[in-house]
Amino acid sequence: MEVRFNSVSMQYDENDKTVLKDMSFDIENHSLVSILGPSGCGKSTTLMLISGLLFPTDGQIFFDDKDVTKKDAVQRKVGMVFQNYALYPHLSVQDNIMFPLKMAGVNKKKRLEKAQELADLVQISEHLNKKPGQLSGGQQQRVAIARALAKEPSILLMDEPLSNLDAKLRTEMREEIRRIQKETGVTTVFVTHDQEEALSISDKVMVLNEGVIQQNSNPQQLYDDPDNLFVARFLGSPEMNIFEMEDIEDSLPQNISGRLKQQGAVLAGIRPESWIHTNSEEAVITGITERIEIVGKERKVSLVLESGQMVDIADVEINFREGDMVSFGTDISNMFFFDGDGNRVVTTDAE
Ligand code: ADP
Repeated sequence: MEVRFNSVSMQYDENDKTVLKDMSFDIENHSLVSILGPSGCGKSTTLMLISGLLFPTDGQIFFDDKDVTKKDAVQRKVGMVFQNYALYPHLSVQDNIMFPLKMAGVNKKKRLEKAQELADLVQISEHLNKKPGQLSGGQQQRVAIARALAKEPSILLMDEPLSNLDAKLRTEMREEIRRIQKETGVTTVFVTHDQEEALSISDKVMVLNEGVIQQNSNPQQLYDDPDNLFVARFLGSPEMNIFEMEDIEDSLPQNISGRLKQQGAVLAGIRPESWIHTNSEEAVITGITERIEIVGKERKVSLVLESGQMVDIADVEINFREGDMVSFGTDISNMFFFDGDGNRVVTTDAE
């Protein structure tokens, strides 16, 4: 099922603020899309609007060519998975999975067949007779996914489904969600505030901030080609280093810095992993190493510049000591520029 929002706005209460503003997007059939953004940006609200548990204040929602704006969740045939699994504790795993089918009046033989098929898909067949309380968090979430898939939903909606799991299980389960989505082909929308989660499993990531879509593209493009300062800073850890244009323009070729300024660039960004250790003539920044963090083979350095600004440098290959005065440069192709509104300014290389 393809999902389309056409200028959707949402206000919970007439006097309240507008939570989602003029939102338009397409979710392709058979794709897995993440909605990513900080807490309170409107991710769950967007998901609830797709589900039909909430209705928009303005705009239309389409499933394929059908206008479903006024249809409820049952009519839209959505499947939902929540952070807290929401399983029935007194029912066995098998009965939990079969529950929506029982409600729909499907006969017992068919229900059992479907439960077995889904248990195989989510790999919990050996636990069918257990109660949810006897399962680990990851296994419970597998049951919840199987249950959501039981009625062959038009679309599968997941709201922070992995937040209750520990780090190792989270990584394992996100791969599982990707596998299950690929095997079933069900269009899936996944809400998360965790960038790594979103980037690792999605065909597309929709980044939201304060109820406005910042960018909706494939994960690599979000990282390599952010549309604005918010996306540039939100993706990547440590965060992209941001400089005032005037602090670094001397290290840019004059014709390029002139053109960038003409186009309104006031900020420049460089990702921590894009720095190259260099001599002071070719340096973009020179500073004193303040903090050196070695985690496994990862070496990160924090540099304090003369201006007092802290700069993060990742993937450092040289064994600096704290207090060393060091210089770093980068290729201009690794630099991002932004105007006063935070929009990306792109310039072509000088001829
Ligand atoms: P997220 O999922 O990104 O954390 P939400 O969609 O839950 O964000 O919330 C977006 C905004 O809408 C927040 O400012 C939140 O306070 C507000 N909000 C969420 N639910 C309600 C509600 N039932 N009534 C009024 N305001 C709400």
